[in-house]
Amino acid sequence: MAGSAPHARARTRRRHSGPPDLAAQTQLELAGEDPQKALPDVAHHLRTCPECKEEHDALLKILQSED
Ligand SMILES: [Zn+2]
Repeated sequence: MAGSAPHARARTRRRHSGPPDLAAQTQLELAGEDPQKALPDVAHHLRTCPECKEEHDALLKILQSED
């Protein structure tokens, strides 16, 4: 009856279709917050996933140049 057994949640492989919340992470950084504390999952992912790191860096540059 109940289908509440989320056991397929680990996504630590390189290829993934759902990147972490890069926008939130980037905005925190721009606001001077410490993303390692606010979004440790995302911060950790960026350290282990070059693809998302690149995307994050690009996003950060865009947001910085907007100011
Ligand atoms: Zn990634």
